[in-house]
Amino acid sequence: MRVTIDPVRCIGAGQCVLSAPEVFDQDDEGVVTLREERPDPAVGDVVREAAARCPVEAIGVETIGRGD
Ligand code: SF4
Repeated sequence: MRVTIDPVRCIGAGQCVLSAPEVFDQDDEGVVTLREERPDPAVGDVVREAAARCPVEAIGVETIGRGD
């Protein structure tokens, strides 16, 4: 999978970091940053959960291969 973020849209709610701290982080101003653009498929469920919980839909999840 490939994860994308939209820092302009992000309001710094931090839900993504709570859901998947191995993939998402926040900068000094609380704006989302990516630790992993291509996370291990094993964390796919929590990444999708993070995207679903983001209140401003600033997280995109793209499946780029089988099981990925
Ligand atoms: S959940 Fe959405 S708004 Fe909140 S920090 Fe993450 S990307 Fe930004």
